[in-house]
Amino acid sequence: MANQAGPVCRLCRREGTKLFLKGNKCLTNCTFDKRNALLPGQHGLARRRKTSDYGIQLRAKQRARRQYGVLEAQFRTYFDRADRSTGVTGTVLLQQLERRIDNVVYRLGLAASRREARQLVSHRHFQLNGRTINVASAQVRPGDVVEVRERSRKLPPIVNARELLAGRTVPDWLTLDSGALRGTVVRLPERHEMEQTIDEQLVVEFYSR
Ligand code: SF4
Repeated sequence: MANQAGPVCRLCRREGTKLFLKGNKCLTNCTFDKRNALLPGQHGLARRRKTSDYGIQLRAKQRARRQYGVLEAQFRTYFDRADRSTGVTGTVLLQQLERRIDNVVYRLGLAASRREARQLVSHRHFQLNGRTINVASAQVRPGDVVEVRERSRKLPPIVNARELLAGRTVPDWLTLDSGALRGTVVRLPERHEMEQTIDEQLVVEFYSR
């Protein structure tokens, strides 16, 4: 499974926003607010400077990519597919990111972060439509059912995530049977139900240069 390697808090500092990549720690022990003036690295403060249009577009793309934990080649594939589609390119791009099964697991509150969700899926703790799956990038469709495998229901990361995210609501495009730890995809997500911190138009401009 390809993944973004290395310390992840530096990614938040690089993008100037909390990306919530570490689950529990992001909610209870995040150091971002104390250090958000600094870019990562020894000379972080000194390296802040005026950003060009290209730089702004690049940062928007990197932020979206890192928020969903997707490597560059796969993100580019999502963009190319969105560009060829008949829908609005930026919205279709975001929909593909939202429809990843690791994101759905996170949205259902069955993992504390997308990063953790990706690991749980790749370790075969989830089923898609009754079949065990280990491909975190699998795209869900309306009607699909995502559930925790019977043998994994008491797994600490899943139990902890349920407690940690107990008050969080599931977006309207999904439903959750919390007793059965089973989610259903009702429909595709609409723009207002996806990440509000991402400016997809800047991402489209970045790849359209
Ligand atoms: Fe680290 Fe999470 Fe805070 Fe980002 S939001 S700086 S990943 S603890």
